[in-house]
Amino acid sequence: MADCIFCKIVAGEIPSKKVFEDETLLAFEDINPQAPVHILIVPKKHLVDLFDGSEEPGLLGEIAARSAAIAKERGLAAYRFLTNTGREAGQAVFHLHFHLLAGRRMGWPPG
Ligand code: AMP
Ligand code: ZN
Repeated sequence: MADCIFCKIVAGEIPSKKVFEDETLLAFEDINPQAPVHILIVPKKHLVDLFDGSEEPGLLGEIAARSAAIAKERGLAAYRFLTNTGREAGQAVFHLHFHLLAGRRMGWPPG
């Protein structure tokens, strides 16, 4: 999708530090990490948010399973996995993405 920063990353038009890639998903390091480990997992297909993504539950399952695979690979005993849906929830990039955060104690509830 034109003018979507994550579509541009998927297309290789904007550089990223890739963590994982297959036909449907891309995982890369967040540019402004909020924890020692901060990885974004995105579908290659442009979906706006989780409302949009809910049409494709299989894809969501793949993303969730991939988060666990990446965490295991890195030997993480704990991690947080989340998506912000809508501006008020903190969404700033309107291409569905999930945050994998780890490496520090996480507060609850989130701010
Ligand atoms: P959200 O606020 O949930 O929409 O998260 C957007 C995330 O994308 C933020 O954590 C940003 O730091 C991250 N981000 C924005 N641009 C880039 C980029 N070019 N490469 C990697 N991460 C990015
Ligand atoms: Zn996009």
